[in-house]
Amino acid sequence: MSDQAFVTLATNDLYGKGALVLGTSLRNHKTTRQLVVLVSPQVSNNMRAVLGKIFDEVVLVNVLDSKDSAHLAMIKRPELGVTFTKLHCWALARYSKCIFMDADTLVLCNIDELFEREELSAAPDPGWPDCFNTGVFVYRPSIETYNELLQFSTEKGSFDGGDQGLLNSFFSNWATADINKHLPFIYNLSSVAIYSYLPAFKQYGADAKVVHFLGNTKPWNFSYNPKTRCVIGDSHDYSSLTHPEFLNMWWDTFTTSVSPLLTEHGISKEPRSSGTQELILSSNFQEEKLSEAVSQLSFTPPPPVVSSEERRKKWEQGQADYMGEDSFQNIQKKLDAYLN
Ligand code: UDP
Ligand code: MN
Repeated sequence: MSDQAFVTLATNDLYGKGALVLGTSLRNHKTTRQLVVLVSPQVSNNMRAVLGKIFDEVVLVNVLDSKDSAHLAMIKRPELGVTFTKLHCWALARYSKCIFMDADTLVLCNIDELFEREELSAAPDPGWPDCFNTGVFVYRPSIETYNELLQFSTEKGSFDGGDQGLLNSFFSNWATADINKHLPFIYNLSSVAIYSYLPAFKQYGADAKVVHFLGNTKPWNFSYNPKTRCVIGDSHDYSSLTHPEFLNMWWDTFTTSVSPLLTEHGISKEPRSSGTQELILSSNFQEEKLSEAVSQLSFTPPPPVVSSEERRKKWEQGQADYMGEDSFQNIQKKLDAYLN
C-alpha cells in the first residue's frame, strides 16, 4: 500500500503538534498506508525532525494564502487564508490515492476502508450540509487537477476565503451527484455538532471514527492535568468542553506519545508555556483573544504601567500579567464596557 497515503498540513509549530497527535493516532490504529505531512518554511527545524519520527514523509511546501480578508472576516477566522496551502496535496502525484486530514483531527479507530472511496469523498459540513467539510476528504493526487485548482483559485477565489469555499465550488456537484461520495458524519465528527444536536450525539457519538476540533479553539489551546487525565476548564463555554472526552483523548495521546519526543528535541511541551499552573487557557489563546478584541472592537487596554510596546513584547514571550492587568476578567470587563 505504498502508493496510498494519509496527508496532513502544518504551517506552524502549533499545528505541527496537532499533526503529531493525528499521525500518532493513525499509527496506534495500525494503518497500513503511508503518512505524509506538508510543512511550510515557518515550521521549525526541530518540529520537522519530530514530525519525521512519526510521518514517512515531511514535504516542504510554500504557503499559499488567499489574502481574502473580506470573506475570512465573515467566518471570523482571519488566519485561514493560508489553508489554500492545502491545495499542494494534489501535487503528491507519486501516490495514487490519498486521504487528507486536518491537523486538528484525531482518529479513534482504523479508517483504512476510506481508500475504497473515490475523489472527492467527504462528510457534510455541520454549518451547511450541502457543502462538504474539508477536514477529511478522499482524493486522487494529480498535477493536472493541482494546476486546475490553482487556476480556479486565482480566477474564481473562494466564497469563504479558505480552502473549503474553493474546493466546494470546484467539486460543485458533490451534494447531488453520487451518494457514495458522502462520507458518514462519524468520519468527521466536529465538536460543534456535539452541542448543536446533543440527542444525535448521544445516539450516534459512540460510533465516531474521526473527531475534528473545528473552530478557533484547538486542543492545544487548553491546559491538561496529566494526573487526573482531564482537560482543565471552567465556566467559559467552549464547545469541546461540553463533552470533554475527545479533548481528553487528544491530550492523552499528546502526553503519552508526543510530548516525550518534543522534549527530546528541545521543544517545550506546553504551547508557549507561561509557568502559571492555574491558568485555564494557554497564553496563546488569551493572546489571540486580545488581538481579536483589538481588531474587532478597537479595544483599548487599560493604561499600562509598562509601555504598551513592552507589554506587547511580554505577551509575545508568553509573560503576560495573567493575574493582574492582563487577566481574562479585565479584558472581559473592557469588552463589556465597550459593548454597553
Ligand atoms: N492550517 C495550518 N496553519 C494555520 C491554519 C490552518 O497549518 O495557520 C492547516 C491545518 O492542517 C488545519 C487546516 O489547515 O487543520 C484547516 O484549518 P483549521 O483546522 O484551523 O480550520 P477549521 O477546521 O477550524 O475550519
Ligand atoms: Mn480543522
